[in-house]
Amino acid sequence: MGSLLSGIPGPAEQRIGLRVTPAAERAIRGGHPWVFERAVRQQSRDGRAGDLAVIFDRRRSFLAVGLYDPHAPIRVRVLQHGEPAAINQGWFQARMAAAARLRAPLGKATGDTTGYRLVHGENDGLPGLVVDCYDRTLVLKLYTPAWIPHLRDVLPALADVVPVECLVLRLGRAMQEQPQSLYGLSDGAILVGPPLGGPVVFRENGLRFEVDPVHGQKTGFFLDQRENRARVRGLASGAAVLDVFSYTGGFSLYAAGGGARSVVSVDVSRPALEAALRNFERNQDDPSVARVVRDRAHEVLAEDAFEALARLGRDRRSFDLVIVDPPAFAKKRAEVEGALSAYGRLTHLALGVLRPGGILVQASCSSRVDAETFFTAVHRAAAAVGRPLREIERTGHPIDHPIGFKEGAYLKCLFATAP
Ligand code: SAH
Repeated sequence: MGSLLSGIPGPAEQRIGLRVTPAAERAIRGGHPWVFERAVRQQSRDGRAGDLAVIFDRRRSFLAVGLYDPHAPIRVRVLQHGEPAAINQGWFQARMAAAARLRAPLGKATGDTTGYRLVHGENDGLPGLVVDCYDRTLVLKLYTPAWIPHLRDVLPALADVVPVECLVLRLGRAMQEQPQSLYGLSDGAILVGPPLGGPVVFRENGLRFEVDPVHGQKTGFFLDQRENRARVRGLASGAAVLDVFSYTGGFSLYAAGGGARSVVSVDVSRPALEAALRNFERNQDDPSVARVVRDRAHEVLAEDAFEALARLGRDRRSFDLVIVDPPAFAKKRAEVEGALSAYGRLTHLALGVLRPGGILVQASCSSRVDAETFFTAVHRAAAAVGRPLREIERTGHPIDHPIGFKEGAYLKCLFATAP
């Protein structure tokens, strides 16, 4: 396994000792996984990314041990609090096995769903590390270089828990800016298995989707929307459907599978829309999808969503079901106001093409915007144009995206009808 990993030094033998502010102490005791740079009061020595840091309380008792990252505002990501532990292959394996157990009900056994998130970072006790499974191709996404010195232990631990035919490494954007911590590893590197010959195909609720784990957004697919897509399938019979921010056609294809009369997919990414067209092609064993393809009733628009919605409105196009699933608008606190106004604008524009009595499905994945605030913004925008929404359902996280701490709650979605 992993000749790419052979030259990478492990973490320092000696751990770094840290003392933190009283507020940070409380947070750690409460199980919060982050220690911020500004909370560090004393530090025994400098360290490299991936060294283990032990946090002590005022009485010099052990509070937690975590991964040190000298360049990030999140200075330590807590692996374990309460009891000291050796952080080694066995420790990683236990966390991964617990994560796998949590996903057991996902119906993998039937072959209906072979794409799911196996490890959801902090929320599964492995902060800054995500593993998405697309059948037997796995994507390991790291958000801190502190994981790199531990990969030699992490990879065998992972292989103990699930079959790994191919493992692709993806690196969060912040990591790509610090090559000195990467030891030659790069975004898209194949850590296990031969190079990918083309897209990987997996199943979600019986539908086939292709992903490009090397170049695709995030790890290649937005697995977190699986259950909302299934809900859309149940609402789409006979409907003219508009899927805004469609990416590779997730909601679009479910809508077609649910008997939609026509589907329009809008996304600014042309490669994503090309994949969406291929995803329709590869599901023609489903008679409802086959009918949409045969009738040329799937239209793709490679365009900015706001502009496309405004134009469709001016052209008096009208839909029975409109899905709006934008990227995270607020990654920092300072962006929250702007995000809320963008959500409101999208609601307004979506209602401009939604027929009276039609269904609006609007989601937000900004963790900085809490659910209540988001739902309020959507309701306000609808009321302001004289179409107060009647809620069908509010949804949150699927089982493979557990919420382990406050900041872990990011996904919310409203299903509603508009008069
Ligand atoms: N609904 C999708 C996931 C959407 S992710 C699914 O179920 O798989 C968000 C998408 O928004 C991405 O595909 C991205 O390319 C697209 N996007 C980002 N900004 C955009 C913009 N201004 N206009 C249109 N699409 C945009």
